[in-house]
Amino acid sequence: MRVPSVLKACQGRPTILGHRGCCSSHSVSTSPPTLAFVPACQPPDPTEVQKLQEFVSRSRRLFVLTGAGISTESGIPDYRSERVGLYARTDRRPVQHVEFLRSARARQKYWARNFVGWPQFSSHQPNVAHWTLQRWERLGKIHWLVTQNVDALHAKAGNQRLTELHGCTHRVLCLGCGDRTPRHALQERFQALNPTWRAEALGVAPDGDVFLTDEEVLRFHVPPCGKCGGALKPDVTFFGDTVSKQKVDFVYERLAESDSVLVVYSAYKFALAARDRKQPIAIVNIGPTRADPFAALKLSSRCGELLPLIALK
Ligand SMILES: [Zn+2]
Repeated sequence: MRVPSVLKACQGRPTILGHRGCCSSHSVSTSPPTLAFVPACQPPDPTEVQKLQEFVSRSRRLFVLTGAGISTESGIPDYRSERVGLYARTDRRPVQHVEFLRSARARQKYWARNFVGWPQFSSHQPNVAHWTLQRWERLGKIHWLVTQNVDALHAKAGNQRLTELHGCTHRVLCLGCGDRTPRHALQERFQALNPTWRAEALGVAPDGDVFLTDEEVLRFHVPPCGKCGGALKPDVTFFGDTVSKQKVDFVYERLAESDSVLVVYSAYKFALAARDRKQPIAIVNIGPTRADPFAALKLSSRCGELLPLIALK
């Protein structure tokens, strides 16, 4: 399979550096912003905003962690939020890594759902919180940004000092030869192989998954790798899999170079490492997090409402 030059350029770098906007060229916003998947919360408290302002102003090399919460304001549901998360609303659970590897049927099911959900999922756009963090990077405030999200929204916003800890659904990985290709190219192959297949998406999950009947799944054809014939997998870390040591070490190095940590809905183990390094931590998260007890500052507000209030000086 021919690989577009933009992806080759990405592959030339370590994957830990993110993919620098690979996804930005093939997505069009079709849906208005929605807050349907954002937990209820109070508006930002002016006193707390001022404290966060001082926290950010003091930092010269800010390390930022983001998780699913930042994307809920772009209309992507998370798994765990009370009442509005996928776990709370449905009994569906994401695919497990081992199941995906050993079962062709599981892969067929995954890709059939993903095929249906892709047009909507890939059309999601960065929200004001993503744009704010992109601006902070451009102005030199952010030393490194680490996200657990696989939705490419930070890359779409243009962040480059970025590690997508769990990969990105906008890339496809061959389990046989390790070839990486753009997800949108696979969509074209799906369409060519399944010209009459139709199914109705019943709701999109955080990784672009949707829900289909067994009959619909059985009729769906999945192409192999164009290079080696191997099985294809989204270039993401599924539940039950682990992030590579190389990538984790890279993140710890960027963390060590930073002088403070802003946690936006995410990543306990890195917050823990920051605590051990005695780096000040600020957390923006609706509801409690495990890192709250050792954070210098905790704000329970919507990040899209809060972050734009912070001025860079
Ligand atoms: Zn291959």
